[in-house]
Amino acid sequence: MTARTIDGTAVAAALRAGIAARVAALSYRPGLAVVLLGSDPASETYVRNKDKAATQAGIAAWTIRLPADTTPAALLERIETLNADPAVDGILVQLPLPPHIDAAAIVEAVDPAKDVDGFHPVNVGRLASGRPALVPCTPLGVMRLLAHENVTVAGARALVLGRSAIVGRPLVGLLLAANATVTVAHSHTRDLAAECRRADILVAAIGRPELVRGNWIMPGATVIDVGINRLPDGRLVGDVAFAEAAAVAGAITPVPGGVGPMTIACLLDNTVTAAERRRGTTGPPAG
Ligand code: NAD
Repeated sequence: MTARTIDGTAVAAALRAGIAARVAALSYRPGLAVVLLGSDPASETYVRNKDKAATQAGIAAWTIRLPADTTPAALLERIETLNADPAVDGILVQLPLPPHIDAAAIVEAVDPAKDVDGFHPVNVGRLASGRPALVPCTPLGVMRLLAHENVTVAGARALVLGRSAIVGRPLVGLLLAANATVTVAHSHTRDLAAECRRADILVAAIGRPELVRGNWIMPGATVIDVGINRLPDGRLVGDVAFAEAAAVAGAITPVPGGVGPMTIACLLDNTVTAAERRRGTTGPPAG
């Protein structure tokens, strides 16, 4: 069997076009504020890409650049201002933050209704208890890919490999809400290969280059590779050995061009969702 390659770039483009149409139908312009401390080159790139994608979708985007030595009090004050600003529907604080700042306290300071990263404990709790929430963008992107590929999630055995707060754990909540039978594997799991072999849907989010081998895959399974790993020779690879796995799986995401492009698309989706929940689908006229 040769797996179908899931084209995340194309799915994300379609999702972004749908979001732009949703925005165009609103009587106001949703707003996204991204807060960036310091000038880490990777964070700079992410923030630039978010700003560009938001603007293309018709979302008002503001990047708030603060010096790396901003005090926790000054950052909290800035977040309070954004919480109170009616033009701002989504607030994203680019992580990681410098070590003198308690990232958890900053995440908790964001209004949960504007928490487009889905990291606030209120949103984490809502997802865990099966209630509507703003959910983290990468796991949401995984669910959108599965839906787009018409993968049957209800009743399927899903294995989530990795239990981080930003990918693995929220994905468990989303897969459960979609009625999958979910197993979570992690660095203490005894026999990873055996767990993988039982999975109709395997999502790898561990950050270990090509750890998942082809002979760990159930024939016909759907394999979603969240991992992004840079090899010493400069190549980007996922957590799954792509060529081996593609020979066995039914469908598989490549790296790059799989889950990656979905993350920003889902950030825009969350921003519009937050706007619609706060202001309604019609809302006041744009000022
Ligand atoms: P993390 O380091 O926070 O968590 C990794 C998880 O994998 C942990 O739960 C750990 O228990 C588990 N793990 C580590 N080594 C393992 C092993 N040998 N066997 C089994 N489990 C193991 O990572 P993260 O932030 O969740 O990111 C995971 C990967 O996904 C990274 O490669 C990251 O770059 C990528 N990522 C991609 C996107 C995107 O596509 N937009 C977004 C977020 C993360």
